[in-house]
Amino acid sequence: MSKTDGEMACRELVELVTDYLDGRLTVPERLRFEAHLAACSGCRAYLGQMRLTLGVLGRISERTISPEARERLLSVYRAWTAQHN
Ligand SMILES: [Zn+2]
Repeated sequence: MSKTDGEMACRELVELVTDYLDGRLTVPERLRFEAHLAACSGCRAYLGQMRLTLGVLGRISERTISPEARERLLSVYRAWTAQHN
């Protein structure tokens, strides 16, 4: 596998995805990244998944869930399981 200025490999995209989401790529890297995305549905799906995962983790670490909120979530969960059993 040779590294050229041309097409980016899926493996390379995977390695760069966190930098891309953090806005840390250089402009040429970013352009190649987006060019690959435009041509590769697998990597588009991967990026969507990563964005979702990192977004969720980021929110949780930013502010912890209050006891009231957790209690509410638990009651919703209990009501849901009661309905579906
Ligand atoms: Zn790809």
